[in-house]
Amino acid sequence: MYEKKCIKKRSIFVHETKFHTTITNNHLRMKTRFAPSPTGYLHRGHVWSALCTAAVAKAKNASMHLRLEDHDTLRCTPHFADEIRRDLEWLGFAWSSESVQSERAEIYQHHFNELLQRNFLFGCSCTRSQIRNGIYAGNCRNLHLPFEKNTVRFRLPEQTLIRWHDERCGDFEEDVATSCGDFVLRDRNGMWTYQFAVVVDDWEENIDLIVRGEDLLSSTARQLLLASTLGRKKMPTFLHHGLLLEVDGNKLSKRDGAAGICAERKAGVSPKKLLAEVCREAMPNADIPQEISWSEAINLYQLYFP
Ligand SMILES: [Zn+2]
Repeated sequence: MYEKKCIKKRSIFVHETKFHTTITNNHLRMKTRFAPSPTGYLHRGHVWSALCTAAVAKAKNASMHLRLEDHDTLRCTPHFADEIRRDLEWLGFAWSSESVQSERAEIYQHHFNELLQRNFLFGCSCTRSQIRNGIYAGNCRNLHLPFEKNTVRFRLPEQTLIRWHDERCGDFEEDVATSCGDFVLRDRNGMWTYQFAVVVDDWEENIDLIVRGEDLLSSTARQLLLASTLGRKKMPTFLHHGLLLEVDGNKLSKRDGAAGICAERKAGVSPKKLLAEVCREAMPNADIPQEISWSEAINLYQLYFP
């Protein structure tokens, strides 16, 4: 089942954009990324996401970067990373560069130190139950708590109203101060958070086209605010695609036991058969044969979502 509606959590539409979300240097080739977390095996939701990313990349003639987002070193394993690479090759997904977050500690530390020097960081000892509805009220902002054994939060700048455009979902406006408050960049175990690592990576790796699931729409304003504070001038173009959902309407997730596609690969199933099944689920009105190749699936996407 494919959900076409956009999630508009905490955001409202406007007709003006603050950030320039398209590159002006037309002679430069755009660069996008597919960024799975090796906390488990790839499932069909990932296949759909990889396909959307590759199709948009092809339409915009963008190069493809594979990033393994293993910032959560307690849950990620090299075994899952290897299986993800094999699954992607098996499907026909091609990438021209690759990075692994766990090998980039110095880069994150560099940007963390910059923020520290500019007084954008503070230690926080609040527990989950002290933070209402996920909005941080700033309890520890001026307490000068140590970073050791505490979370480290981003002290929001004065201007926190973010306006941005999504190529599929339209225009958004969000005031990060009221939608989430100072957010966490490093957890109490000393691990970088998704929000911090992804902003640093997208900038450092010159990613200027971000294609990802619409479950991440609600992270975008935070990421733009952080990127702009870090010093990124040109913001990337965003396209949040619809998600492959379970029959009950919930997102397919490995935590909920969505089956890994590596089992099918190892059992000798044809990747063309699996791609056809994923496409049938995501594009129920399209006429799809029993087996389709990766490039045929990309063409189909472009016909279905012109
Ligand atoms: Zn706190």
